[in-house]
Amino acid sequence: MNNFRFILTIFSFSIFFMLSHEIIAQSADSKPSRPDYVLVIHGGAGTMQSGLLTDEALYREGLSKALQAGETVLNSGGSAIDAVVAAIIILEDDPLFNAGKGGVYNEAGEVAHDASLMEGKDGKAGAVGMVRHIRNPILAAKAVMDEGRHVFMVGEGAEAFAKKAGLKIVEQSYFFNQDRWDDYEKTRNSRLEDEFPVDSKGTVGAVALDRDGNLAAGTSTGGMHFKRIGRLGDSPVIGAGTWADNQSCAVSATGHGEYFIRNAVASDISARMKYLNETLEQAAQTVVMEKLKNMGAGGGIIALDKNGNITMPFNTSGMFRAYVKAGENPVIAIFKDK
Ligand code: ASP
Repeated sequence: MNNFRFILTIFSFSIFFMLSHEIIAQSADSKPSRPDYVLVIHGGAGTMQSGLLTDEALYREGLSKALQAGETVLNSGGSAIDAVVAAIIILEDDPLFNAGKGGVYNEAGEVAHDASLMEGKDGKAGAVGMVRHIRNPILAAKAVMDEGRHVFMVGEGAEAFAKKAGLKIVEQSYFFNQDRWDDYEKTRNSRLEDEFPVDSKGTVGAVALDRDGNLAAGTSTGGMHFKRIGRLGDSPVIGAGTWADNQSCAVSATGHGEYFIRNAVASDISARMKYLNETLEQAAQTVVMEKLKNMGAGGGIIALDKNGNITMPFNTSGMFRAYVKAGENPVIAIFKDK
């Protein structure tokens, strides 16, 4: 009888232990629920002041339209990469932003674009640089990624590839923009040999998380105002301007590209999360508000982690930015607080 009691006691303890262990394991696993989908976009960082920014309403409208285009894709079950592309196309076609139609002029008075894309699921990526005749450079980056043989194509070879892929090829005159041209002439006429304008706000980018939990990122730009012929910035460089990894986060950057390349900004944020166990917020703050800022590198990033958390730090006076989460109202902001 004593034996029987002993066995029963041991048995009850075991059951109790197993149940409590299960409950603890479950509560440790139960993270805050991830939104069905999330989309974050930017339209560049730079010097902008509330009340002094001309066309503020138009910028907000442009961001809103891009957000809607991307959200339509995500809402209907589309992929993060397609949402990123859909949002960026709208911004590339909007002459206000420094990408596609609104690209800035280089030293030679030409518009030359850079763009890149990355999928977080399998690390697939595509990028184009120094292209001057592709209406939507982000589609060329997508074509490079989809074909899969190469990751990064530049110049005439990239244009020939885009043409073969059936993309719209246009004359330089398609990108003509009087305001940008006036800026170009002003710099050309007044520039001292050692002066380089660095404020080129208007680069565009997007990061998304879809219903399947996949992350994607993309960035598109005309680069820095009055850049040298042949100069590539961070925007088409995978790891610098664009990064996506389902294990950590998706990032699109904007700012003084040379510093963003030297700091591998986008992939560094992901690496800090993976190897230092930092949160998205901590990683982005360290990179943008400490590392870059201390070097005098102006700019910002938008980023989204695998759980749908968003961060959008910038060390300039403003950054065009917007986001939407499934079932919530979109948020659009330009300056520090609004
Ligand atoms: N990062 C871009 C470049 O360096 C410019 C920008 O984002 O404003 O080409």
